[in-house]
Amino acid sequence: MNVKSNLNELYNEWWDNRTPEEFALHGLCYEYEAEYFEDMTLQEGSLLNDVIETVYDYTDGIFLGIDNVLRIYVVDKCEEGGNYSGRYNTEEHKMEIVRKHIDDKATILHELIHFYEHQLEEDENPIIRELLIVELYNKLSKQIPDLRQRLFDHCELYSHSETFRYSGEHGVLFYLKSLDLDIRCGFPLGTVCGYGRDEMNNEISKEN
Ligand SMILES: [Zn+2]
Repeated sequence: MNVKSNLNELYNEWWDNRTPEEFALHGLCYEYEAEYFEDMTLQEGSLLNDVIETVYDYTDGIFLGIDNVLRIYVVDKCEEGGNYSGRYNTEEHKMEIVRKHIDDKATILHELIHFYEHQLEEDENPIIRELLIVELYNKLSKQIPDLRQRLFDHCELYSHSETFRYSGEHGVLFYLKSLDLDIRCGFPLGTVCGYGRDEMNNEISKEN
């Protein structure tokens, strides 16, 4: 059985067995996708529309959304252990949200960025990913005067922290999109990214 058909089977199994909490969370993620992730799912009229029209022809038929792909589990503790509020498993297209964080919008958005970034990577369109970085940077630089410094500070931490090295990826695209979501949701800058604090270790959780 190849990986894709295995994932389809896992999705169908999840769909048949999802709990009411997971059903509700899945619905919420659909809403967030439409409201906040039009750029990463290449919706008509989104960020790249002005940059390169052919991108839409090129990606015609490629689906980057959560429908029929993402499995969402509400758990008491993430499978990998640690004091995480949520995790995204790239190999299995699986998101875990810890029950007590089920209403934490920033946690859900954080894990969704991982999902959409992974979708862009999986579809082997590095150029789209790179253009999104440029466009997000240009957009945000008008809203955040010290964006360049923030980005470099983030990458410094990203490069040198043992924690980041061995946990989820929080690279340039992730960071820029997290700032975009902070602004759009009215959060203080850094909330959605959390600088990886949710994924660091038991002592430093996002709650602290
Ligand atoms: Zn993360």
